[in-house]
Amino acid sequence: MKKILKETLHELGGEIAIKIAEILLKNKGKKLSAEHIAEKSELDIKDIRKVLYILQDLDLVKSHKTTNEKKHSSYFYWVPTFENVNKYLIQKYQENIDELKQELDFSEKVLFECEECQEERYPYTEAMRHDFLCPICKKGELVSMNNTEKVKSLKEEIESLKKKQKALSKEK
Ligand SMILES: [Zn+2]
Repeated sequence: MKKILKETLHELGGEIAIKIAEILLKNKGKKLSAEHIAEKSELDIKDIRKVLYILQDLDLVKSHKTTNEKKHSSYFYWVPTFENVNKYLIQKYQENIDELKQELDFSEKVLFECEECQEERYPYTEAMRHDFLCPICKKGELVSMNNTEKVKSLKEEIESLKKKQKALSKEK
């Protein structure tokens, strides 16, 4: 199993997710239901289902229905689609990047902070609206703060996520 897949599975469902993935990969083409996985792993069926649904939502496994005409029975079996793991990670990194960009936008403005409590940061117009007096502790003065370090570290974080995305999109 690829390291990146293993790490992702672990993040999503711990050791159980890795165990399930190993069983699915080892038994490719065998139409395993959650019950079959439980038999092979001695994991709790509820835990197995929970993890399978999480993976299904992220397009990392698919379920199909199989019908036995003679026995008039049918069940759902699970097929791994772990090749989608890069797509999932690229999307996840994009969400992180979007959040960081919002924070960067905010941090790049001149911000004011209370000298006393440092509870909250305010853009200029808002600080002015409060007459540069902290609305939280009502004691401290709102003074402009230096965001250079914060801006720099946000930019670095965004760049590093973009690099990770690029590496993943190149991989086949
Ligand atoms: Zn304050």
